[in-house]
Order: sequence, then C-alpha cells, then structure tokens
Amino acid sequence: MWERMAEELEILKQQGNFRTLPPITYPGYKMVKEGKQMLNLSSNDYLGLASRQELREEFLQGLSADDFLPTSSSSRLLTGNFPVYEKLENELASLYNKESALVLNSGYHANTGILPAIATEQTLILADKLVHASLIDGIRLSPARCIRYRHNDILQLERLIKKYEADYREIIVVTESLFSMDGDITDLWHLSILKKMYPKVLLYVDEAHAFGVRGPQGLGLAEEMYALDNIDFLVGTFGKAAASAGAFIVCRKIVKEYLVNRMRTLIFTTALPPVNVAWTLFILRKLPGLKQEREHLAAIGKQLRQGLEAKGYVCPSMSHIVPLIIGSNAETLWTAEKLQKNGFYALPVRPPTVPEGTSRIRFSLTADVSEEDVERLLSVIHYKL
Ligand code: PMP
Repeated sequence: MWERMAEELEILKQQGNFRTLPPITYPGYKMVKEGKQMLNLSSNDYLGLASRQELREEFLQGLSADDFLPTSSSSRLLTGNFPVYEKLENELASLYNKESALVLNSGYHANTGILPAIATEQTLILADKLVHASLIDGIRLSPARCIRYRHNDILQLERLIKKYEADYREIIVVTESLFSMDGDITDLWHLSILKKMYPKVLLYVDEAHAFGVRGPQGLGLAEEMYALDNIDFLVGTFGKAAASAGAFIVCRKIVKEYLVNRMRTLIFTTALPPVNVAWTLFILRKLPGLKQEREHLAAIGKQLRQGLEAKGYVCPSMSHIVPLIIGSNAETLWTAEKLQKNGFYALPVRPPTVPEGTSRIRFSLTADVSEEDVERLLSVIHYKL
C-alpha cells in the first residue's frame, strides 16, 4: 500500500500535478504567505464580507451566551434542529418565492446528497461536461443513467432530450449557473424554454459562484435571468460570497419532505453549529443591500477580461472569475510563481480539474480589489506568444 502511494505521488510530482496545503497566515484581501504580503486573487470571499471586521462586531453585539451555540450535537433529525435553522429556511424560501428551503452542511453535502436521493433507475441525468466534482460524485452515487453534454451546448442538450424522452420517467438537467473554472455563465432562460417544451425535463442548477454576486437582490443568475420559477432544484452555498459555511436548496415543499426522509448527507451527519447558521442569517439579510459591491465586482471582472484579451489571451469569462488560460502545466506554474513574486496570489489550476492542455491561472476577484490593483496585475502579465 505505502509503496503504491509513494509511486503515485512521484508520478504526480513528475507531471507537475503534486499538491500541498499552502502555509497561509492571513487569508484576507492582503494575505500573508511565508512572511510575504500579497494581494489575494484566489479567494471565494467575492463580496469581501469575510474580511469586514465591523460586520463581525455587529453580529457579536446581537449575540448572548444563550445564542452562542458552537455545536448542534446531533443530526437535525434527532436533536440538532435548532429554531435558527427554520428561521433561515423561511427567509430563504420567501426571498426566492419558493414553497420551501432546506439548509445543508455544505455544497458538497448538497450535491452528493440530493441527486442520489431523488433519482431512480428510470431517471436520465443530462449534465454539462464541466460541472463541479461534487455534482459528478452525486451523479455517481445515484442509480440514474447519466450522459454529459458539451459545455453550454444547449442544442446538443435538446437533441439528447428528444432522443431519450420516451425511454425515461424524468430527465434531470444538471448544470452550474456560473462555472468556477471558466467564469462563464449558462443561459438559464434558454434552459427554461426547454423545460416548457419538454414536460419530463426538470432543472437542477448549482448557483455556488453566483449566489450573493448576481441578480438585483444577490440571489444569483436565476434571479438575474428571470428563471427562478423554472428551476426545480436550486442549490446555493454559503461558503463563498456569503462569508459563512453551509448550503441550501430552494424547492417545492414535497421535495423538502422527500429529502428529509431520503437524503443521506442530511440524515447521517451532525447539523451545522447554530451560531454559524445565525451568522448566515445575519449575512443573508444584508445581501439585497450590497448592490454597490456587486456592481464593482462586475466592473473589475470586465476590466481584467478586456485587459487579457488585449494581450492576446482567449477569455471565456462573463463574471468576476477570470481565467488566464496558458496551456502547459510548466508554463502555468512558472507564471503563478512570477505573479507571486510580484505580490499577486493567484493559483495554477491543472488537469484533472480542467481539461488537458488548458492549464491556467484562475483569478477570483473580490469586491476589495480595486481598479488600480487590476491595472498593476495586467502590467506584469506578458503578451501571449
Ligand atoms: N458547487 C460548486 C460549483 C463549487 O464550486 C463548490 C466548491 N468550490 C461546491 C459546490 C462545494 O461547496 P462547499 O465548499 O460548500 O462544499
């Protein structure tokens, strides 16, 4: 066993794919790694809320020892279902104008738990080629057949629906709304039309990277694209723009009841600490008011994308996640190192996380980043050869 592990790790090292846990001291906007301060361009704290001390102070002022409950001590189905959970779920359901909401321990728990619970052998899952690993794992755990369609290729998706419609009881289309590696977005309006045309189609949309960031109230791209009513399973996460931890699904009441009875990653795990759920609720109430942060984020995303295109890079992004697609692993690692030397902490992303030959630096912008920061960053990126 140990020899096999050592051999595999050696191969990863030779391929430039060996990963280690980075020694980071302060993971805020200006983070510190090995004594060096750098601009953090790898954070998912998209609205900059995690680094805002005044928010934490305000939250603490409203908290007494009675509310400071650092553990739920149990699954929600036993004794871990504290009232704050239901408060958060009621507010989510009402914001999204859905019948119900269910809070889950993480996006990974959500995606690996919902699909195995709801799908059967008579379900066909059609999933975008680039969906997140948590969705792939959820699909693998489900008894349904799955076919992947080319990334954002709605025409191919429709062909598959037509071809298999008669053979299955239902077809679940699984996609992200804002893709975490290319920063591009899915046409949820077009997906809504497909759902209307083909009654067996149900939509499962992961808004992990859009929740808080997109839409007039920060509810995500489904809100921005007027598609909320058409999404059957809308998943969002709290660990990114909401500066917290956990996840949620908004859905029909019957889906929530079904998940409470069938979803193993809800039933067989200790519920999130109530104090953490209270913090999520505190942040959720602020989200609709953070329009300025959302506008700034969109503006710097566009600035960086246009700057990279002017240097000859192809950039698929339509958001605050902007990839610098380089190609080879070696050149990508070298560029990441050069950026770090110049004070920019942005991480290389390599296969298998992204397709072979598309190694990249992934810039993940937050509302703390200024236009001047983006200008400085662009000035150290060389023209594409
Ligand atoms: N979905 C997507 C699209 C993600 O990118 C991630 C995490 N990066 C998750 C789900 C998992 O969410 P969490 O970190 O809350 O487990």
